[in-house]
Amino acid sequence: MSVRVRIAPSPTGDPHVGTAYIALLNYCFAKSQGGSFILRVEDTDQGRCTPESKQAIMDCMRWLGLEYDEGPDIGGEHGPYEQSQRVEAGIYKKYSDQLVEQGDAYPCFCSSEDLTTMREAQRAAGEPIMYDRRCRDLSKEEAQARIDAGDSHVIRMKTPLEGEHSYPDRLRKNPVVKQWVDVDDQVLLKADGWPTYHLAAVVDDHLMGITHVIRAEEWLNSLPKHTWLNKQLGFEVPEYIHVGLLRNADKSKISKRKNPTNVLWYRDQGYLPGALLNFLCLLGHSHPEERDQFDLEEMVRIFDLSRLSVAGPVFDMDKLKFLQGLWFRDLSPEQMCAVIHQSLDYRMDELLPLVAERMITGGDFCNQADIFYADDVRWQMQDVIPKGWDANQTRKALDTTVKSLRKLIKKGKLEWTAADIEKGIKDIAEKNDWKPKQYYMTLRVAATGRKDSPPLFESLEAIGQLKVFKRIEALLPKIR
Ligand code: GLU
Repeated sequence: MSVRVRIAPSPTGDPHVGTAYIALLNYCFAKSQGGSFILRVEDTDQGRCTPESKQAIMDCMRWLGLEYDEGPDIGGEHGPYEQSQRVEAGIYKKYSDQLVEQGDAYPCFCSSEDLTTMREAQRAAGEPIMYDRRCRDLSKEEAQARIDAGDSHVIRMKTPLEGEHSYPDRLRKNPVVKQWVDVDDQVLLKADGWPTYHLAAVVDDHLMGITHVIRAEEWLNSLPKHTWLNKQLGFEVPEYIHVGLLRNADKSKISKRKNPTNVLWYRDQGYLPGALLNFLCLLGHSHPEERDQFDLEEMVRIFDLSRLSVAGPVFDMDKLKFLQGLWFRDLSPEQMCAVIHQSLDYRMDELLPLVAERMITGGDFCNQADIFYADDVRWQMQDVIPKGWDANQTRKALDTTVKSLRKLIKKGKLEWTAADIEKGIKDIAEKNDWKPKQYYMTLRVAATGRKDSPPLFESLEAIGQLKVFKRIEALLPKIR
C-alpha cells in the first residue's frame, strides 16, 4: 500500500513555523517512500477560520517548496480538501449517526451555562475539568423525545470507562498509556450539526486513505479518542506518530512572544526557503554524516522516520541565521541580486508609504527603511533622553511601556497593529501623565535609533513586536 500522509492545519492565524516543521517531516517521509503528501484545511471552527489564513498556508507551502500532491487549490481524487466544503457535502453526519446507532455516541443536552457551572464546581473541588457524563445514560426514548421536542444538543463519544488505552508510538521507548476513565466524552457533532476536529479528522484521514499521521505531541491526548473512533467506525487505523513540539530557548512551547512564528515573516525578512527548511530539518533529524548544510532533496534522501526527535527541539535563531548565512553566500551574484529584489518586493507595499515622504532618490529607500530590517540599532544618548526628562524618567517610561504592552498582548487585548499600539501607548501616557511630546520621542528613538523616523505607531507595527521589545530592552541598561 502506498504511503499517504497529510498536514491538516486550521486556518486561524498566520502560517506557523510549527506547521512548516510538521509539513516538512510529512513531506520527507512521503517522498522517501514514493508516497503522496496532502494538504487538508481543517476549517470547522468557522468563528476562528479565515480565507486569508487559508491562502497564507498555501502561499507558505509553495514558498517553502513543499509542493503537495493534493490540496484545496489543486484538487485530487479525494476532494474537496477543505472541511467546510465537506460539511456541505454531508460527509460527516452519517458517521456520527452510525456511532449513535451502535451505542458508541450519545446526544447531550447540556447548555453552555450547565457546562460552565460544571467546570467551576470541578475547579473548586480540584477535580479534572471534563464533561461529567450526565447525559450519557439517558434512555434512548427520553433522548429521542427531547430531540423531537427540538431541544438543542450535541453528540458526544461514549468511550469505555474501564481499562487503559495503550499505543506503541514508534518514536517512544514505552507505549503511550492512558486510562479510559480520564478520556473525556468528546463532542463529535456540534449543536449546529458541524463536526468537531476529532470526528472530521478521523473520517477524513480514512476517506483520504491516510496511512500515517505524523503530528506534534500536543495531540497525544487525543490519541485514544482517534484510535477508538477509527475502530468503532470500522476503519483501518492509520499509524500515529507524535514528534516533539518546537520550543523557545527556555523550553516553553514556541510562542510569538519569544520567536517570530509566522513563516511568511521569514520570507518577508529575506530568509531563503532552503535555509529555513534546512534549519527545521535539523531540529528534528540530524544528518547521518553530521552535515549542517543540505537541501530538500538531500533531506528526503536521508530521512528516517524512526530517527525523529521527540525531545522538544529548541528553535535557536542564531543557528538559523548561521545556516541562512551559509545558504546566502552560496548564491551566485545573479541569484543574490534576485533574492535582494524579491525581499525588497515583499515589503515594498508596506514600507514605501511609510518612508516615501523622506526620500528624494530611489537609493534613499535603503537609508530610510533600514530601521525595519536591522537586527540592532544604535542610539545617541542625548536623543534618547528628551528635553525636560532625566535618565530615570526615561528608563521608567520605556520599561513600563514594554511591560504594559506585553501584558495587553498576553491578555489578548492588543494585536500588534498600529491602531492597537497607538491605543495602548496613549493609555500608558495618560495613566502616567506623560506628555506625548517627550514620551513619543523617547519611544521613537529607542525603537528606531532615530529622532526623525516615519510615523511612530506605523513604524512600531512594521518593525515588529519582537524587535521593538528587544531594542528597548537592549537600550534600558545604557540609559544613565
Ligand atoms: N487541525 C489540527 C491542527 O490544527 C490537526 C492536527 C492533526 O494533525 O491531527 O493542528
